[in-house]
Amino acid sequence: MLLLKKDLFIGGVVLKEFEFIEKIKPSYYRNSSVIKGIGDDAAVVKPPNGYELVIASDTMVENVHFSFEYMQLRDIGFRVLAANLSDLAAMGATPLYYAVNIAVPSTYSDEQLIDLYLGMDELAKKYKVDLIGGDTVSANELVITISVFGKVLPNKKRLRSYAITNDIVFVTGNLGEAAYGYDLLKSDVLLENHFTDRHKRPTPRIDFTELTDSISRMSLNDVSDGLASELNEIAEASNAVIEINWDDLPVHSKMASIDTEQLKKYVLSSGEDFELVGTCSPKEWDLIKEKTSNKLQVTPIGKVTEESNTPEVFLTIKNSRTILHKSGYSHG
Ligand code: ADP
Ligand code: MG
Repeated sequence: MLLLKKDLFIGGVVLKEFEFIEKIKPSYYRNSSVIKGIGDDAAVVKPPNGYELVIASDTMVENVHFSFEYMQLRDIGFRVLAANLSDLAAMGATPLYYAVNIAVPSTYSDEQLIDLYLGMDELAKKYKVDLIGGDTVSANELVITISVFGKVLPNKKRLRSYAITNDIVFVTGNLGEAAYGYDLLKSDVLLENHFTDRHKRPTPRIDFTELTDSISRMSLNDVSDGLASELNEIAEASNAVIEINWDDLPVHSKMASIDTEQLKKYVLSSGEDFELVGTCSPKEWDLIKEKTSNKLQVTPIGKVTEESNTPEVFLTIKNSRTILHKSGYSHG
C-alpha cells in the first residue's frame, strides 16, 4: 500500500501507486522460472530442480548508508542491489530474482523513483536477475530494502565454516578502494575517477563464483565490513587460525603513497569494497588461478595454519606478527 500523494487517493484506489508499479513492472522476465511476477498478491517462482534456494536481504537508509550529496538515485539503486548480489556471490550462488521494499518521502516524483530502479536494472540486466515484487510505503526518509534469491548446487555452497588447515587464503580485486573513493568524494563531490566509482558502483563478484564453480571446497565471505572483520568471521566459523601478510595484500598502485596508518584503515577495516575473501586447498588454489587468469585478479594473502578452539587472525607486518582484531586494530 502506498500513499505517495494523498490527494490522489481516489475511490479506494491509490492511483499513484498503481501508475508507479505499472512503470517499474518488467515487460518480460529473464528467467522462465518466474511463473507470476509483479501484479498479484505475491510472486510465484519455480526454482530449478536439484538446486538449493539462497536468500539474502540488505537495507540502506538515507543519511546512514548513502547521502544525496555524493550519489544520484541511479547510483543508490545500483549500490543496494550490488550489496545484495555480493552476498549471493559469497555463498557461491547464482542470482535469480529480487524484491524491493521502499519507504519514500512524499516529495519524490515517479521519475526519481524510476531512476532508482534503472540503477538496479543496470546490474539486473548484466546478471539476468528479475524484479518479481516488493512493497511501497511513505516515510520521512528514503529506505530501500532488497531481498535477493539465488540458486546453488547442494555441494557447491561456500560457507564460512569450510576453512581447514593448510588452506590458502585469497582475496579478489584490490582492498580499500571504495573507502578511499568515499574520502575523495567528501573533499570534492564532483570528482569522478576509478575510486569514486568503486564507492558508487561496486562490482559484485558474481564472475568469481561462476569461474570457480568446479572447485570442490571453498570458504567464502564478502568484504562488506572490512578484511579484518571478514577473516575473523571465517576463523570463528571454521575454528581456525589464519595468518596473513601485509605485503601480500593487494592495493592499487595509486594508493601506495598514502600514509601507512591511514592505508591500514582503508585496507583492513573499511567495508563496502564487495570483494570476496576465502580459502581453499593448495591444490585447488592452482585451479582457481588457472580459471581466473586474465579475467579477474585473485591474490593469495596468507594461510590457514591450524584448526583450533581459539580461532584467531594474525597479521605479519615488517617481520612483526600481531593479532588482527575484527575492527582492524592489531597489537602484539
Ligand atoms: P498488496 O496490496 O497486495 O500487497 P501492492 O499493491 O502493494 O499489493 O503491490 C502490487 C504488486 O506490485 C505486487 O506484485 C507487489 O509485489 C508489487 N510492488 C509493490 N511495490 C513495489 C515496489 N516498490 N517495487 C517492486 N514491486 C512492487
Ligand atoms: Mg494484495
